Amino acid sequence: MPELPEVETIVSDLAPLLTGARIIRVQVWDPRLVHFPGAEDFNRRLTGRIIRGMRRRGKYVVIEPDQGLTWLVHLRMTGRLLTKLEPGERHLRAQFTMDNGICLSYCDLRRFGDMWAFFPGEEEHLGGFQTLGPEPLGTEFNPDWLLAAFADRKAAVKALLLNQRIVAGLGNIYADEALFLAGIHPARPGCSLTPVECGTLAESVKTVIRGAISGRGTTFRDYRSGLGTRGNYQQRLQVYGRAGEPCARCGETLERMRVGGRTSVFCPQCQLLGRQTQEA
Ligand SMILES: [Zn+2]
Repeated sequence: MPELPEVETIVSDLAPLLTGARIIRVQVWDPRLVHFPGAEDFNRRLTGRIIRGMRRRGKYVVIEPDQGLTWLVHLRMTGRLLTKLEPGERHLRAQFTMDNGICLSYCDLRRFGDMWAFFPGEEEHLGGFQTLGPEPLGTEFNPDWLLAAFADRKAAVKALLLNQRIVAGLGNIYADEALFLAGIHPARPGCSLTPVECGTLAESVKTVIRGAISGRGTTFRDYRSGLGTRGNYQQRLQVYGRAGEPCARCGETLERMRVGGRTSVFCPQCQLLGRQTQEA
């Protein structure tokens, strides 16, 4: 599932190819893909527009055509935005033909992806995009923010890191990696973290996200960059996908547990559940 670093890589690959291009043809074959407005209005709104810019916010691709329109894409589990189709691709859901010869294809095996095309004033149709918390690499995301966000929250810190209102763009992979780097057990209640631990965790999130962006994301199965290439960061993962392997730091066997409905992998030695009592 693409998280912040994967979406960042897709946007940085596609922006130079699409910026300045005019959309001359919109074809959507999966009616579930368009979340807002209806399929016909979606086609009408996008056709003929010039793409002025492209950026990322959380896990969303934000494309900015002219005349105030915003085109949002969320890839969810298995969505891909590609300028070249792999031979035998069977999951093509939509295509956007540009006047510069580029054809942007949207492929999605599981079909959970969403697109919106909205004007100012229509934000109530955007769901979670409107309530996104700070970007992890921004100055707003800092120890004080985490301490305030975790106050009175008995939920596991892992679940809180996946809450897009607390920090935008994290998913299972980078939440596990950041908690390992910070030495914090994923099942610790958020409110049990000390100010020092909140500082360490905020810094760890930034370090992991920066590293993953520089590695062009993580590819397990489906993720491909905007150029169709695989990510490199899977070679640098410390815990995610490594349950049963030795911890790179201490040699203890990494364990897997369910936290907030999601699988977490952690080191029972480096990420003690009772750590807060030792530091207090
Ligand atoms: Zn360890």
